[in-house]
Amino acid sequence: MGRVGFVSLGCPKALVDSERILTELRAEGYDLVRTYGEADVVVVNTCGFITQAVEESLAAIGEALDQNGRVIVTGCLGERPEEIMARHPSVLAVTGQADVAGVLAAVREALPLDARPFVGVLPVVGDGRGGALDRGVKLTPRHYSYLKVAEGCDHTCSFCIIPHMRGRQASRDAADVLYEATRLVATGTKELVVIAQDTSAYGTDLRHRTSDFQGRPVAAHLVPLVRELAEMGAWVRLHYVYPYPHVRELIPLMAEGKLLPYLDVPLQHASPTVLRAMRRPGGAESHLRTLQAWRAICPDLAIRSTFIVGFPGETEADVDLLVEFLREAKLDRVGAFSYSEVPGAAANALPGAVPEDVKRERYARVMEAQQAVSAAIQAAKVGRTLPVIVDDVGDLPGAMIGRTRADAPDVDGRVLLDTDGTVAIGDIVEARVTAADAYDLHAHALRVVPWRPAVPTWGTAPHREGPATSGR
Ligand code: SF4
Repeated sequence: MGRVGFVSLGCPKALVDSERILTELRAEGYDLVRTYGEADVVVVNTCGFITQAVEESLAAIGEALDQNGRVIVTGCLGERPEEIMARHPSVLAVTGQADVAGVLAAVREALPLDARPFVGVLPVVGDGRGGALDRGVKLTPRHYSYLKVAEGCDHTCSFCIIPHMRGRQASRDAADVLYEATRLVATGTKELVVIAQDTSAYGTDLRHRTSDFQGRPVAAHLVPLVRELAEMGAWVRLHYVYPYPHVRELIPLMAEGKLLPYLDVPLQHASPTVLRAMRRPGGAESHLRTLQAWRAICPDLAIRSTFIVGFPGETEADVDLLVEFLREAKLDRVGAFSYSEVPGAAANALPGAVPEDVKRERYARVMEAQQAVSAAIQAAKVGRTLPVIVDDVGDLPGAMIGRTRADAPDVDGRVLLDTDGTVAIGDIVEARVTAADAYDLHAHALRVVPWRPAVPTWGTAPHREGPATSGR
């Protein structure tokens, strides 16, 4: 049996690519192993977005070569094979991003399998269409999963080369997405994290054509897709949502509790001048109007956003505007990045490069302003009872680590829970918040919330319900 090691780098979209490759490798009969020493060949799924990610990817390839020696490279950096081969000429093969077939061909060549003894005994689950679906290899914990609805992007943001690397937007039919979601929920996923490069634009390339899901037509459009997902009984979280008018139709579902009251909206800046140079629409005023309209429908809506500081041509006045916007917008979560050049991006040719020390100072100003906003939002949660999904165990006996509905995996805050020791990873509990800092909450778990998905479950843990604290 051929043994394959796998290193997965980059964003959730790359993680989904890794899951697909691993699922196919396993279906072909390859054994997936966890250490370089056990592997006959190592696949490295790279990120190639910003300079730092490129360096990390090249270092990961170097480590795999040192530790194992037989390495296949795929992913975003794989779109620039000359860069990889210049640094690491001994890699066996390089394929581009989302090229599952290319990776499989390279693995087969490096590691031919005479027989595939395990294909017939893979666990399967019904797909609702009379067929059978493999559970698939997941790189996230069992209780949450990324659901990628489209590849590529039709925008031309000047700092970004994703359209060049991943191509124009190519959406999946709604039925494909929904059957995958059904399978995930049936096999234990309690939180579906919907991702794409531009989730709001889902289906435009398909002209919103319909496909058949359990006997009814569903359009490839974010609103009907999310309405269907919301009926499955899992938490549904939306990432990379651009503030198109139709997004407003989803907010009532959040107010009704059918959809997590959470939106990740990458705004990137508040200054209309900088946004224009980024080739993105809007500015502080239009951002604020949109947020106000959404919050009028769902006051509990948590909004996460990302911003770039130090973009070419950015002035002190632009940064003042951004800081003022953050104070007014009161976003729940903010990620800020200092601008760095991406090879091949149009923004590299823009005048007005901002010196590194100025970028650092602006970054610090923005983060300081947001920290005050975030601390106030967090402090207001003390004393409330909130649902928390449990991701991990903590350091102390009975301690667990979870997230509220306002916190996405990996990028947002955590809840440090104390429990009576009966709470398990993957449980959703009600917890009373006892303390807060700018990012994390402390809480007592009160009880495990019954888990009753609306799809037939397969292979999930038995339902558990009961007390969860020592009564302190
Ligand atoms: S930053 Fe702009 S071009 Fe890049 S993926 Fe996002 S929307 Fe598309």
